[in-house]
Amino acid sequence: MKIGTPKEVFEGEARVAMTPDSAVQLQKLGYTCAIETGAGAAAGFADATYEAVGVEIVKTPAALWKAADIVAKVRQPTETELKRMTAGKTLISFFNPGGNEAGMELARSKGANVIAMEMVPRISRAQKMDALSSMANIAGYRAVIEAGNNFGRFFTGQITAAGKVPPAKVLVVGAGVAGLAAIGASTSLGAITYAFDVRPEAAEQVESMGAEFVYLDFEESQQDGAATGGYAAVSSPEFREAQLAKFRELAPDVDIVITTALIPNREAPKLWLEDMVAAMKPGSVIIDLAAEKGGNVEGTVMDEKVVTENGVTIIGYTDFPSRMAAQASTLYATNIRHMLTDLTPEKDGQINHDMEDDVIRGATVTFEKEITFPPPPPKVQ
Ligand code: NAD
Repeated sequence: MKIGTPKEVFEGEARVAMTPDSAVQLQKLGYTCAIETGAGAAAGFADATYEAVGVEIVKTPAALWKAADIVAKVRQPTETELKRMTAGKTLISFFNPGGNEAGMELARSKGANVIAMEMVPRISRAQKMDALSSMANIAGYRAVIEAGNNFGRFFTGQITAAGKVPPAKVLVVGAGVAGLAAIGASTSLGAITYAFDVRPEAAEQVESMGAEFVYLDFEESQQDGAATGGYAAVSSPEFREAQLAKFRELAPDVDIVITTALIPNREAPKLWLEDMVAAMKPGSVIIDLAAEKGGNVEGTVMDEKVVTENGVTIIGYTDFPSRMAAQASTLYATNIRHMLTDLTPEKDGQINHDMEDDVIRGATVTFEKEITFPPPPPKVQ
Protein backbone atom coordinates (compact mmCIF):
# COMPACT_ATOMS: atom_id res chain seq x y z
CA MET A 1 0.00 0.00 0.00
CA LYS A 2 1.02 3.58 -0.55
CA ILE A 3 1.13 6.29 2.12
CA GLY A 4 0.78 9.79 0.71
CA THR A 5 1.20 13.20 2.32
CA PRO A 6 -0.28 16.29 0.67
CA LYS A 7 0.89 19.87 1.12
CA GLU A 8 -1.16 21.48 3.90
CA VAL A 9 -3.77 23.87 2.51
CA PHE A 10 -4.59 25.82 5.72
CA GLU A 11 -3.21 29.33 5.26
CA GLY A 12 0.15 29.78 6.91
CA GLU A 13 0.46 26.13 7.99
CA ALA A 14 4.11 25.15 7.66
CA ARG A 15 4.08 21.65 9.13
CA VAL A 16 4.16 18.43 7.14
CA ALA A 17 3.06 14.95 8.25
CA MET A 18 5.90 12.98 6.63
CA THR A 19 9.60 13.74 6.90
CA PRO A 20 12.42 12.01 5.05
CA ASP A 21 13.29 10.19 8.30
CA SER A 22 9.74 9.02 8.94
CA ALA A 23 9.48 7.88 5.31
CA VAL A 24 12.48 5.61 5.84
CA GLN A 25 10.72 4.00 8.81
CA LEU A 26 7.39 3.71 6.94
CA GLN A 27 9.15 1.90 4.11
CA LYS A 28 10.54 -0.57 6.65
CA LEU A 29 6.90 -1.39 7.44
CA GLY A 30 6.51 -2.47 3.82
CA TYR A 31 4.79 0.67 2.49
CA THR A 32 5.72 2.84 -0.46
CA CYS A 33 5.66 6.58 0.21
CA ALA A 34 4.61 9.57 -1.84
CA ILE A 35 4.55 13.28 -1.12
CA GLU A 36 3.09 16.25 -2.93
CA THR A 37 5.77 18.46 -4.42
CA GLY A 38 6.78 21.23 -2.01
CA ALA A 39 4.85 19.73 0.93
CA GLY A 40 7.89 19.80 3.22
CA ALA A 41 9.46 23.02 1.97
CA ALA A 42 8.12 25.35 4.67
CA ALA A 43 9.40 22.96 7.34
CA GLY A 44 12.83 22.78 5.72
CA PHE A 45 12.46 19.44 3.92
CA ALA A 46 13.13 19.84 0.19
CA ASP A 47 11.68 17.47 -2.42
CA ALA A 48 15.21 16.23 -3.16
CA THR A 49 15.71 14.97 0.43
CA TYR A 50 12.53 12.91 0.12
CA GLU A 51 13.54 11.63 -3.31
CA ALA A 52 16.92 10.61 -1.93
CA VAL A 53 15.22 8.15 0.43
CA GLY A 54 12.91 6.71 -2.20
CA VAL A 55 9.79 8.85 -1.75
CA GLU A 56 7.85 9.49 -4.94
CA ILE A 57 7.16 13.20 -5.61
CA VAL A 58 3.67 13.79 -6.94
CA LYS A 59 2.87 16.98 -8.83
CA THR A 60 -0.72 17.82 -7.82
CA PRO A 61 -2.94 17.33 -4.77
CA ALA A 62 -5.52 15.47 -6.88
CA ALA A 63 -2.90 12.97 -8.08
CA LEU A 64 -1.51 12.54 -4.54
CA TRP A 65 -4.92 11.79 -2.95
CA LYS A 66 -5.75 9.43 -5.84
CA ALA A 67 -2.49 7.49 -5.60
CA ALA A 68 -2.47 7.08 -1.81
CA ASP A 69 -4.22 4.22 0.00
CA ILE A 70 -3.39 5.94 3.28
CA VAL A 71 -3.24 9.73 3.53
CA ALA A 72 -1.29 11.25 6.42
CA LYS A 73 -1.70 14.96 7.04
CA VAL A 74 -1.65 17.54 9.83
CA ARG A 75 -4.70 19.84 9.78
CA GLN A 76 -8.36 18.90 9.78
CA PRO A 77 -9.11 18.13 6.10
CA THR A 78 -11.19 20.54 4.02
CA GLU A 79 -14.33 19.44 2.21
CA THR A 80 -12.41 19.39 -1.09
CA GLU A 81 -9.81 17.12 0.45
CA LEU A 82 -12.37 14.78 1.98
CA LYS A 83 -14.19 14.49 -1.31
CA ARG A 84 -11.01 12.97 -2.68
CA MET A 85 -11.28 10.01 -0.29
CA THR A 86 -12.76 6.83 -1.71
CA ALA A 87 -14.00 3.57 -0.19
CA GLY A 88 -11.40 1.67 1.80
CA LYS A 89 -8.87 4.51 2.00
CA THR A 90 -7.57 5.56 5.39
CA LEU A 91 -6.96 9.12 6.54
CA ILE A 92 -4.72 9.82 9.54
CA SER A 93 -4.89 13.47 10.63
CA PHE A 94 -6.06 15.92 13.24
CA PHE A 95 -9.80 15.96 12.55
CA ASN A 96 -11.58 17.83 15.39
CA PRO A 97 -14.33 15.17 15.47
CA GLY A 98 -16.27 16.90 18.27
CA GLY A 99 -16.74 19.98 16.10
CA ASN A 100 -16.70 18.45 12.65
CA GLU A 101 -19.87 16.44 12.13
CA ALA A 102 -20.07 17.40 8.47
CA GLY A 103 -16.55 16.11 7.87
CA MET A 104 -17.27 12.84 9.68
CA GLU A 105 -20.47 12.34 7.70
CA LEU A 106 -18.69 13.04 4.43
CA ALA A 107 -15.90 10.59 5.25
CA ARG A 108 -18.46 7.98 6.32
CA SER A 109 -20.50 8.39 3.16
CA LYS A 110 -17.36 7.94 1.09
CA GLY A 111 -16.48 4.75 2.96
CA ALA A 112 -13.20 6.25 4.15
CA ASN A 113 -11.73 5.18 7.50
CA VAL A 114 -10.54 8.12 9.57
CA ILE A 115 -8.09 8.09 12.45
CA ALA A 116 -8.21 11.39 14.37
CA MET A 117 -4.87 12.08 16.02
CA GLU A 118 -6.39 14.16 18.84
CA MET A 119 -8.40 11.10 19.88
CA VAL A 120 -5.38 8.93 20.72
CA PRO A 121 -6.12 7.78 24.29
CA ARG A 122 -3.78 9.34 26.84
CA ILE A 123 -2.53 6.07 28.29
CA SER A 124 1.11 5.06 28.72
CA ARG A 125 1.12 2.62 25.79
CA ALA A 126 -0.06 5.35 23.42
CA GLN A 127 2.34 8.09 24.50
CA LYS A 128 4.49 7.58 21.39
CA MET A 129 1.45 8.51 19.26
CA ASP A 130 0.23 11.37 21.47
CA ALA A 131 0.37 14.22 18.97
CA LEU A 132 -1.54 16.58 21.28
CA SER A 133 1.29 16.32 23.80
CA SER A 134 3.96 16.69 21.10
CA MET A 135 2.34 19.88 19.88
CA ALA A 136 1.60 21.22 23.39
CA ASN A 137 5.25 20.73 24.30
CA ILE A 138 6.31 22.84 21.32
CA ALA A 139 3.66 25.49 22.02
CA GLY A 140 4.88 25.87 25.62
CA TYR A 141 8.52 26.24 24.57
CA ARG A 142 7.69 28.61 21.74
CA ALA A 143 5.51 30.75 24.02
CA VAL A 144 8.62 31.61 26.04
CA ILE A 145 10.64 32.38 22.90
CA GLU A 146 7.79 34.58 21.62
CA ALA A 147 7.58 36.32 24.99
CA GLY A 148 11.33 36.95 24.95
CA ASN A 149 11.07 38.38 21.47
CA ASN A 150 8.48 40.90 22.65
CA PHE A 151 10.08 41.68 25.99
CA GLY A 152 12.73 44.37 25.79
CA ARG A 153 14.86 42.92 28.57
CA PHE A 154 16.98 39.95 29.63
CA PHE A 155 15.42 36.90 31.24
CA THR A 156 18.45 36.25 33.36
CA GLY A 157 19.81 38.69 35.92
CA GLN A 158 23.21 40.18 35.20
CA ILE A 159 25.79 42.32 36.89
CA THR A 160 27.51 44.32 34.18
CA ALA A 161 29.88 47.29 34.11
CA ALA A 162 26.89 49.36 33.01
CA GLY A 163 24.78 48.33 35.95
CA LYS A 164 22.82 45.57 37.59
CA VAL A 165 20.00 43.90 35.66
CA PRO A 166 17.31 42.12 37.66
CA PRO A 167 16.09 38.73 36.41
CA ALA A 168 12.69 38.65 34.70
CA LYS A 169 9.81 37.17 36.64
CA VAL A 170 7.64 34.74 34.70
CA LEU A 171 4.32 33.30 35.84
CA VAL A 172 2.99 30.16 34.12
CA VAL A 173 -0.70 29.47 34.73
CA GLY A 174 -1.59 25.83 34.08
CA ALA A 175 1.15 23.22 34.48
CA GLY A 176 0.06 20.54 32.02
CA VAL A 177 2.21 19.54 29.04
CA ALA A 178 2.46 23.05 27.55
CA GLY A 179 2.91 24.72 30.93
CA LEU A 180 5.72 22.40 31.99
CA ALA A 181 7.50 22.99 28.68
CA ALA A 182 7.17 26.75 29.23
CA ILE A 183 8.55 26.38 32.76
CA GLY A 184 11.53 24.41 31.41
CA ALA A 185 12.32 27.03 28.78
CA SER A 186 11.83 29.92 31.21
CA THR A 187 14.04 28.54 33.97
CA SER A 188 16.74 27.57 31.50
CA LEU A 189 16.83 31.17 30.24
CA GLY A 190 17.42 32.24 33.83
CA ALA A 191 14.09 33.84 34.73
CA ILE A 192 12.58 33.51 38.19
CA THR A 193 9.62 31.32 37.33
CA TYR A 194 6.37 30.84 39.24
CA ALA A 195 3.63 28.43 38.29
CA PHE A 196 0.12 27.61 39.36
CA ASP A 197 -2.29 24.78 38.60
CA VAL A 198 -5.57 23.68 40.12
CA ARG A 199 -4.26 20.12 40.32
CA PRO A 200 -2.27 19.98 43.59
CA GLU A 201 -0.15 17.12 42.21
CA ALA A 202 1.32 19.56 39.69
CA ALA A 203 3.24 21.29 42.52
CA GLU A 204 5.89 18.57 42.69
CA GLN A 205 6.45 18.61 38.92
CA VAL A 206 6.71 22.40 38.92
CA GLU A 207 9.22 22.40 41.76
CA SER A 208 11.28 19.60 40.21
CA MET A 209 11.79 21.90 37.21
CA GLY A 210 13.24 24.71 39.27
CA ALA A 211 10.12 26.88 39.45
CA GLU A 212 8.21 28.01 42.49
CA PHE A 213 4.65 26.72 42.92
CA VAL A 214 2.13 29.40 43.84
CA TYR A 215 0.07 28.16 46.77
CA LEU A 216 -3.30 29.70 47.60
CA ASP A 217 -4.63 30.53 51.03
CA PHE A 218 -7.09 27.69 50.74
CA GLU A 219 -7.53 24.33 52.43
CA GLU A 220 -6.03 21.75 50.08
CA SER A 221 -8.81 19.29 50.77
CA GLN A 222 -11.25 21.87 49.45
CA GLN A 223 -9.42 22.34 46.17
CA ASP A 224 -12.21 20.93 44.09
CA GLY A 225 -10.24 22.04 41.08
CA ALA A 226 -8.31 18.86 41.73
CA ALA A 227 -8.55 16.61 38.82
CA THR A 228 -11.02 14.13 37.57
CA GLY A 229 -8.84 11.33 36.21
CA GLY A 230 -5.80 13.58 35.94
CA TYR A 231 -7.71 16.44 34.26
CA ALA A 232 -8.95 19.72 35.66
CA ALA A 233 -12.59 20.36 36.53
CA VAL A 234 -14.37 23.67 36.96
CA SER A 235 -13.34 25.36 40.21
CA SER A 236 -15.79 26.31 42.95
CA PRO A 237 -16.52 30.06 43.25
CA GLU A 238 -14.55 30.19 46.54
CA PHE A 239 -11.52 28.52 44.98
CA ARG A 240 -11.69 30.79 41.98
CA GLU A 241 -11.84 33.88 44.21
CA ALA A 242 -8.77 32.71 46.12
CA GLN A 243 -6.97 32.13 42.83
CA LEU A 244 -7.87 35.55 41.44
CA ALA A 245 -6.84 37.25 44.69
CA LYS A 246 -3.41 35.60 44.43
CA PHE A 247 -3.03 36.64 40.78
CA ARG A 248 -4.03 40.22 41.67
CA GLU A 249 -1.21 40.24 44.24
CA LEU A 250 1.32 38.96 41.68
CA ALA A 251 0.27 41.13 38.71
CA PRO A 252 2.33 44.28 39.50
CA ASP A 253 5.43 42.17 40.13
CA VAL A 254 5.60 39.75 37.17
CA ASP A 255 7.04 40.68 33.77
CA ILE A 256 5.73 37.81 31.70
CA VAL A 257 2.58 35.71 32.09
CA ILE A 258 2.04 32.55 30.07
CA THR A 259 -1.43 31.05 30.41
CA THR A 260 -2.18 27.47 29.36
CA ALA A 261 -5.21 26.60 31.51
CA LEU A 262 -7.78 24.37 29.83
CA ILE A 263 -10.66 22.23 31.02
CA PRO A 264 -11.58 19.36 28.69
CA ASN A 265 -14.65 20.08 26.51
CA ARG A 266 -15.21 23.58 27.88
CA GLU A 267 -14.34 27.18 27.15
CA ALA A 268 -11.04 28.16 28.73
CA PRO A 269 -11.52 29.71 32.20
CA LYS A 270 -10.89 33.49 32.38
CA LEU A 271 -8.13 33.82 34.94
CA TRP A 272 -6.18 36.97 34.14
CA LEU A 273 -8.71 39.78 34.24
CA GLU A 274 -8.64 43.32 32.91
CA ASP A 275 -7.58 44.84 36.25
CA MET A 276 -4.62 42.43 36.44
CA VAL A 277 -3.51 43.43 32.93
CA ALA A 278 -3.88 47.08 33.97
CA ALA A 279 -1.76 46.49 37.08
CA MET A 280 1.19 45.09 35.11
CA LYS A 281 4.26 47.19 34.33
CA PRO A 282 4.63 48.74 30.85
CA GLY A 283 6.71 46.41 28.67
CA SER A 284 5.27 43.29 30.27
CA VAL A 285 4.15 40.46 27.97
CA ILE A 286 1.28 38.00 28.18
CA ILE A 287 1.09 34.89 25.99
CA ASP A 288 -2.35 33.29 26.05
CA LEU A 289 -1.99 29.72 24.82
CA ALA A 290 -5.68 29.14 25.46
CA ALA A 291 -6.68 31.72 22.82
CA GLU A 292 -8.22 29.10 20.54
CA LYS A 293 -10.60 28.03 23.32
CA GLY A 294 -11.66 31.59 24.14
CA GLY A 295 -8.55 32.61 26.09
CA ASN A 296 -7.55 32.79 29.76
CA VAL A 297 -6.89 36.51 29.57
CA GLU A 298 -9.32 39.41 29.24
CA GLY A 299 -8.14 41.33 26.19
CA THR A 300 -6.73 38.43 24.17
CA VAL A 301 -7.59 38.59 20.49
CA MET A 302 -7.18 35.23 18.77
CA ASP A 303 -4.27 35.16 16.30
CA GLU A 304 -3.35 38.76 17.09
CA LYS A 305 -0.88 40.74 19.13
CA VAL A 306 -2.39 43.69 20.96
CA VAL A 307 -0.69 46.34 23.08
CA THR A 308 -2.81 47.80 25.87
CA GLU A 309 -2.95 51.46 26.86
CA ASN A 310 -0.58 50.78 29.75
CA GLY A 311 1.95 49.15 27.40
CA VAL A 312 1.31 45.45 28.04
CA THR A 313 1.62 43.16 25.00
CA ILE A 314 -0.98 40.38 24.81
CA ILE A 315 -0.33 37.64 22.26
CA GLY A 316 -3.12 35.26 21.21
CA TYR A 317 -1.42 33.38 18.39
CA THR A 318 -2.71 29.85 17.83
CA ASP A 319 -0.01 28.64 15.46
CA PHE A 320 2.93 28.11 17.81
CA PRO A 321 3.72 24.56 16.60
CA SER A 322 3.70 25.79 12.98
CA ARG A 323 6.14 28.56 14.00
CA MET A 324 8.59 25.75 14.81
CA ALA A 325 7.67 23.73 11.76
CA ALA A 326 10.84 21.66 11.47
CA GLN A 327 10.60 20.42 15.07
CA ALA A 328 6.83 20.07 15.02
CA SER A 329 6.90 18.09 11.76
CA THR A 330 9.60 15.78 13.07
CA LEU A 331 7.63 14.96 16.22
CA TYR A 332 4.25 14.73 14.47
CA ALA A 333 5.61 12.53 11.69
CA THR A 334 7.07 10.26 14.38
CA ASN A 335 3.67 10.08 16.13
CA ILE A 336 2.08 9.10 12.78
CA ARG A 337 4.81 6.54 12.12
CA HIS A 338 4.16 4.90 15.51
CA MET A 339 0.44 4.80 14.76
CA LEU A 340 1.21 3.04 11.48
CA THR A 341 3.56 0.62 13.24
CA ASP A 342 0.63 -0.47 15.41
CA LEU A 343 -1.62 -0.62 12.32
CA THR A 344 0.88 -2.87 10.52
CA PRO A 345 1.74 -5.74 12.88
CA GLU A 346 3.01 -7.97 10.05
CA LYS A 347 5.23 -5.23 8.54
CA ASP A 348 3.82 -6.25 5.18
CA GLY A 349 2.71 -2.85 3.91
CA GLN A 350 -0.94 -3.75 4.59
CA ILE A 351 -3.08 -1.90 7.09
CA ASN A 352 -4.70 -4.06 9.78
CA HIS A 353 -7.32 -1.74 11.27
CA ASP A 354 -7.93 -3.72 14.44
CA MET A 355 -10.98 -2.25 16.19
CA GLU A 356 -10.33 -4.56 19.17
CA ASP A 357 -7.17 -2.57 19.93
CA ASP A 358 -8.07 0.16 22.48
CA VAL A 359 -5.78 2.78 21.03
CA ILE A 360 -6.79 2.25 17.40
CA ARG A 361 -10.45 1.98 18.38
CA GLY A 362 -10.26 5.16 20.49
CA ALA A 363 -8.77 7.20 17.67
CA THR A 364 -11.00 5.87 14.85
CA VAL A 365 -13.89 8.21 14.08
CA THR A 366 -15.25 6.58 10.91
CA PHE A 367 -14.87 2.92 9.96
CA GLU A 368 -16.52 0.83 7.28
CA LYS A 369 -19.28 3.31 6.51
CA GLU A 370 -20.07 4.00 10.16
CA ILE A 371 -19.34 6.91 12.46
CA THR A 372 -17.48 5.44 15.41
CA PHE A 373 -17.15 8.65 17.43
CA PRO A 374 -17.33 9.05 20.35
CA PRO A 375 -15.52 5.86 21.30
CA PRO A 376 -16.71 3.70 24.19
CA PRO A 377 -15.09 4.58 27.55
CA PRO A 378 -11.63 3.04 27.85
CA LYS A 379 -11.34 -0.34 29.55
CA VAL A 380 -9.50 -0.21 32.87
CA GLN A 381 -5.81 -0.78 32.11
P1 NAD B 1 -4.77 20.68 29.37
O1 NAD B 1 -4.13 21.21 28.13
O2 NAD B 1 -6.15 20.11 29.30
O3 NAD B 1 -4.80 21.84 30.48
C1 NAD B 1 -3.63 22.52 30.84
C2 NAD B 1 -3.52 22.67 32.33
O4 NAD B 1 -4.42 23.68 32.79
C3 NAD B 1 -3.83 21.42 33.14
O5 NAD B 1 -2.71 21.06 33.90
C4 NAD B 1 -5.01 21.85 34.02
O6 NAD B 1 -4.99 21.24 35.30
C5 NAD B 1 -4.78 23.34 34.11
N1 NAD B 1 -5.94 24.15 34.56
C6 NAD B 1 -7.25 24.00 34.28
N2 NAD B 1 -7.98 24.94 34.90
C7 NAD B 1 -7.10 25.74 35.56
C8 NAD B 1 -7.24 26.89 36.39
N3 NAD B 1 -8.42 27.42 36.67
N4 NAD B 1 -6.11 27.43 36.91
C9 NAD B 1 -4.90 26.90 36.65
N5 NAD B 1 -4.71 25.81 35.89
C10 NAD B 1 -5.79 25.24 35.35
O7 NAD B 1 -3.81 19.65 30.08
P2 NAD B 1 -2.74 18.64 29.46
O8 NAD B 1 -1.50 19.36 29.18
O9 NAD B 1 -3.38 17.91 28.36
O10 NAD B 1 -2.48 17.68 30.70
C11 NAD B 1 -3.48 17.31 31.62
C12 NAD B 1 -3.05 16.09 32.42
O11 NAD B 1 -2.93 14.95 31.59
C13 NAD B 1 -1.71 16.23 33.09
O12 NAD B 1 -1.81 15.60 34.35
C14 NAD B 1 -0.79 15.48 32.21
O13 NAD B 1 0.37 15.03 32.87
C15 NAD B 1 -1.67 14.35 31.77
N6 NAD B 1 -1.23 13.75 30.51
C16 NAD B 1 -1.07 12.37 30.45
C17 NAD B 1 -0.64 11.77 29.27
C18 NAD B 1 -0.44 10.27 29.16
O14 NAD B 1 -0.56 9.58 30.14
N7 NAD B 1 -0.19 9.75 27.99
C19 NAD B 1 -0.40 12.54 28.15
C20 NAD B 1 -0.59 13.94 28.24
C21 NAD B 1 -1.01 14.52 29.43
